[in-house]
Amino acid sequence: MVQKADSIWFDGKLVPWDKAQVHVLTHTLHYGVGVFEGIRCYTCSNGESAVFRLPEHVERLFHSAKINEMAIPFTQEEICAAIIDTLKANKLSEGYIRPLAFIGAGVMGVNPADNPIQIIIATWPWGAYLGAEALEKGIRVKTSTFTRHHVNVMMTKSKTAGNYVNSVLAKREALADGYNEALMLDVDGYVCEATGENIFIVRNGIIKTPPLGSILSGITRESIMLLAEDLGYTVVEDRFTRDELYCADEAFFTGTAAEVTPIREVDRRVIGAGSRGPVTKAVQEAYFKVLRGDNPKYGKWLARYSL
Ligand SMILES: *Cc1c(COP(=O)(O)O)cnc(C)c1O
Repeated sequence: MVQKADSIWFDGKLVPWDKAQVHVLTHTLHYGVGVFEGIRCYTCSNGESAVFRLPEHVERLFHSAKINEMAIPFTQEEICAAIIDTLKANKLSEGYIRPLAFIGAGVMGVNPADNPIQIIIATWPWGAYLGAEALEKGIRVKTSTFTRHHVNVMMTKSKTAGNYVNSVLAKREALADGYNEALMLDVDGYVCEATGENIFIVRNGIIKTPPLGSILSGITRESIMLLAEDLGYTVVEDRFTRDELYCADEAFFTGTAAEVTPIREVDRRVIGAGSRGPVTKAVQEAYFKVLRGDNPKYGKWLARYSL
């Protein structure tokens, strides 16, 4: 269960958690055209808190909305400010932030016509998405029987609610089969991403990640690419196959929720030494250092606030 907070920001004002309700004829509930973000905030080592890459996440929310022809009736600046207000109202120094814009009730046809565009911001405490142990020991992954969306079937550059039916199917299948996460291939059979994470492999010191084809353009992905380059690694964006992944020295997932999670096994093949590898550890540490406010070069990535 999500841990209840005091308030949820709803169409411009804070309302009590239990009062943040919608009508059952909410258009998005029926057809899946809603857009969301997943953002994290962390307690920094100086005791302040900070939202990681807040404007970038809010910009992506607006891009997702644009892709779906949804006009959010607030500016990006207003949503950034509302997120900080919500965190303060909930006295949350570290946790997860979930903005969701959706099409409200009105007409019930596929065409949403003039139904209102509504928006909420919920926050809650959330630890390691795949478990604290996963960050250190790594997880077991299975190639999904579900293919990632074709770029002309779903708008893969958007975090559109309906896109995640594909993720839910794949995630449940992987868990039921005794794995922690699903590896999804694209329509051509190349390694794509996981259900809500981007993927990286390491071989002979070179870091590789799939290019921006049908993957979601992860903000963590971009951050990790920059941090890895700062550490002196070469990072390439190139397609690769699952057999290349099987023979990688290291592999890891990145995402706001999953942070940097090592992959220790794929389809029963042990990856590298079967534990978090040295390169994964180095980028993971560099990432957490930024999140804690301990890397001045990336202070610009932190929207600081105090409770
Ligand atoms: C959100 C998401 C990611 C990770 O993106 P971040 O910006 O790093 O959180 C990767 N893949 C999918 C499908 C996602 O929904």
